[in-house]
Amino acid sequence: MAIRNIRMIGDEVLKKRCKEVTEITPRTAQLIDDMLDTMYERNGVGLAASQVGILKRIVVIDTTGEDPIVLINPQIMETSGEQSGQEACLSVPGKTGVVTRPNYVKVKALDREMKPYEVEGTGLLARALCHETEHLDGHLYVEKVEGELMDAEDLEEE
Ligand code: ZN
Repeated sequence: MAIRNIRMIGDEVLKKRCKEVTEITPRTAQLIDDMLDTMYERNGVGLAASQVGILKRIVVIDTTGEDPIVLINPQIMETSGEQSGQEACLSVPGKTGVVTRPNYVKVKALDREMKPYEVEGTGLLARALCHETEHLDGHLYVEKVEGELMDAEDLEEE
């Protein structure tokens, strides 16, 4: 188990476009394991490789705590509907803001054996698929927040 350092907003690496993965080397496999460990350790719903400083198109997501999804070179194929809700990011600690996202998202990706597959989700999973895919293109959710970015603690007290 290895926990990697999470890069914080303001770090240039978070603004860069990640590169396509062409093969799973032992280093890449280790990166994926470390990303999962890091996401669970920090109680995150998702993590993109750029958040641990690696510019590869790899995302891990788990919206339930028991169903890890590994997406390599993910591409959003289909979206529908709309949902508006609180979003947060391990690279923007202590903050939250309202973002409107599609309520349904279908993604095409490779699994950790580089086999193509599809993931579709609604609600939180749809939100996570959008949020994490955008990390790979150098974007943070704060660019899309409607109104003000809020302190997460303040929200919990309401
Ligand atoms: Zn994020």
